[in-house]
Amino acid sequence: MLRLIIIVTAAFLAAASFAPKPALTAVPANAFGEQAAIRCAQTIHAAAPAIANVDVLIDAGHGGIDGGTSYGSILEKDINLAVAKKTYVQLHAMGLTTVLDRTGDYALSSDNTWLKSSSRHRKDLAQRCHLANELKPKALISLHVNAAKRAAKSGPLVLHQKTPESKELAKQLQQSLNRLYGAEGTPRYGKSYYLLKHAKVPAVIVEMGFLTNESDRRRLTDPAGQEEIARCIAAGLKAYLEQCAAE
Ligand SMILES: [Zn+2]
Repeated sequence: MLRLIIIVTAAFLAAASFAPKPALTAVPANAFGEQAAIRCAQTIHAAAPAIANVDVLIDAGHGGIDGGTSYGSILEKDINLAVAKKTYVQLHAMGLTTVLDRTGDYALSSDNTWLKSSSRHRKDLAQRCHLANELKPKALISLHVNAAKRAAKSGPLVLHQKTPESKELAKQLQQSLNRLYGAEGTPRYGKSYYLLKHAKVPAVIVEMGFLTNESDRRRLTDPAGQEEIARCIAAGLKAYLEQCAAE
């Protein structure tokens, strides 16, 4: 896939020539057949924040060497990315400033040249977190797919931080996805999750369904099903942001 890279601002262009790593890039979404432009924050230089007032940062979980959970040849990372792109398009159409942190099949650990750690996984998560703390979006959603030993386990699950904002965001997303799945799950505190612990913005992890459940798997792998999930995530986000604006 052709990945066209556009530097967002001229100011950044100037800064980039001195910076050790490229900063904010925008990838036109028509590179994968969509109308809206996808803003892809692969690496950001703190001195040159090229995008301000970000409403939503979408984290497409896993990527590259890290496939996430799997079922046969179905990999979680591909589902996360597909729904992330569709969610981006929905949010963009609603007029929300949205950034997607991964637009292809790669890990974010290689963008992380600043953390001295031998753990690729830790570097990957730290880079996603760093982006959130630099961009300061009103909401960070990290998209994932669940798996369980019991094939009967199904439905969406949203994990949140300790803060009231994150809890509210999780509630809105869970309600919206529950309606789609005909489920009754409740959000849970994701105490041990790196991203939730280290992101200084309202963040949630959205487990969009179980890859180990036949009905969930059908929805998660079908483009029309992915579109429905994206629409529900976008609706939940919109409800949360409207509530924030009203307060
Ligand atoms: Zn995952």
